[in-house]
Amino acid sequence: MNGKTFELGDVVEMKKQHPCGTNEWKIIRMGADVRIKCEGCQHSVMIPRREFEKKMKKTLKTAQSAPGE
Ligand SMILES: [Zn+2]
Repeated sequence: MNGKTFELGDVVEMKKQHPCGTNEWKIIRMGADVRIKCEGCQHSVMIPRREFEKKMKKTLKTAQSAPGE
């Protein structure tokens, strides 16, 4: 454990916020690449997992604590 654990459905904060002003991203796909969706404007981006790990700051909500999402 290195404090940067994440899984599908988690909402994470990135080091840089999206230009729309929101800094909450939901993980909507995980693989060699991670697809995250901005919770503010629903824009989604796909980034290599290694890069995602570098750019994410912390997990805001885990999938388990937000059932029904
Ligand atoms: Zn956005």
